[in-house]
Amino acid sequence: ADIGAAQTLLPYLGRMDPLSGLAMVMSGISPSAPFSDVLKAGQVPENSLTGWFFDFLAFALQGLPASATQAAGVSFMMREFFAPGAVMDYPKGGSGALVDALLRAVEKRGGELRLRTRVEKLAVDKTGRCTGVELKGGKGLEARVAVLCNADVWNTSSKLLPEEWRPKVRGSSLDVEGVPMCPSFMHLHLGFRTEGLDLEAMGVHHITAADLQAPVDATDNLVFISIPSAIDDTAAPKGYACLHAYLPATEPYDAWAGMDRRSDEYKRKKEERAAPLWKAVERVIPDIQSRLVVRMVGTPLTHERFLNRYRGTYGPAYRAGIQSYPSPQTPLRGLWCIGEGSFPGIGVPAVAGNAAGVANTIAPLEMHQRLLERLRKAELL
Ligand SMILES: Cc1cc2nc3c(=O)[nH]c(=O)nc-3n(C[C@H](O)[C@H](O)[C@H](O)COP(=O)(O)OP(=O)(O)OC[C@H]3O[C@@H](n4cnc5c(N)ncnc54)[C@H](O)[C@@H]3O)c2cc1C
Repeated sequence: ADIGAAQTLLPYLGRMDPLSGLAMVMSGISPSAPFSDVLKAGQVPENSLTGWFFDFLAFALQGLPASATQAAGVSFMMREFFAPGAVMDYPKGGSGALVDALLRAVEKRGGELRLRTRVEKLAVDKTGRCTGVELKGGKGLEARVAVLCNADVWNTSSKLLPEEWRPKVRGSSLDVEGVPMCPSFMHLHLGFRTEGLDLEAMGVHHITAADLQAPVDATDNLVFISIPSAIDDTAAPKGYACLHAYLPATEPYDAWAGMDRRSDEYKRKKEERAAPLWKAVERVIPDIQSRLVVRMVGTPLTHERFLNRYRGTYGPAYRAGIQSYPSPQTPLRGLWCIGEGSFPGIGVPAVAGNAAGVANTIAPLEMHQRLLERLRKAELL
């Protein structure tokens, strides 16, 4: 029994929702079961538009259809998605605004962010303790408490983990042998003139489906489009708007591997593979071509390079009921693999929950108590 858990939980028991999660447990659904089991228990007909919509949401959040997505990774997000007053939103100022908010919180508490600081290796001592990181250029950073790594699992195990430790971690969460990988993305980033367009009426989010009968993860089927300028007039200069369209987690990396980004072959392939994106955007803004001022096509190589993602992947593709996400704990003491490579998987809420769980495990009891007290005083508990 964990006395610390009892000490932190008991004073707040009265404020917890006693039914939270109970329905799922009562239906006998394991958190690692497919999300489609939750839908079945909720009597959502598989071949209905509602069934399609949940299938799409599971795919949008974790890169797999509902029949392969683990219930734990998406169920709590669905609960929030359909909560009274919830909307599918977009952060004003773009995703950078979210990063800035997190950074303010980190710096306020004495933390520091180092940009353009590449980690080359994890430092591991002879006893198997991760003691810090080695940076590009040779400098080292020593960890006072632990190293939390959210580089993707493939880069962590094949580049960051010192070679001598690779054979010793076989079969653990640091071994990527047999870890299934989601495909990559095609992107279209556009800047366009807005004269005569009612952006507000157009709205920020659009999803186009080439074929509603085809599986949600079929090649070139779903295109996700965001027009942040519809709600954020700082996203582009006055009279202009920006748009991002992408084919999510369906573009195979192999077709692009090893290509020279300056070659004609690459440029031709970019145009060819951007065609489904143009088709989708034209369904929303039919005369987009005559309005263009900026156009940029991103490929799996772009995704790999700018997002630091191994083979431009969306993340692991563990299929519910067959494989499950590993725990963030690793066999190297002091090293935790947070991020979308460990339970509960892909998606910002999932990785935030994962990191919060690890912070919870590492932090001593009095820190938990201080935090709970602050939340209580701020009437957040
Ligand atoms: C186009 C797109 C749309 C998405 N939309 C949504 C959405 O609407 N909702 C949602 O919940 N999720 C969405 N996701 C998924 C979500 O973004 C990811 O699941 C989440 O960001 C994963 O977080 P992470 O911390 O594991 O990894 P990341 O966010 O990839 O962070 C890892 C960081 O580590 C850095 N890094 C890697 N290697 C090194 C190194 N050696 N040295 C230094 N730094 C390094 C990387 O540059 C990166 O900044 C989307 C993803 C994409 C690509």
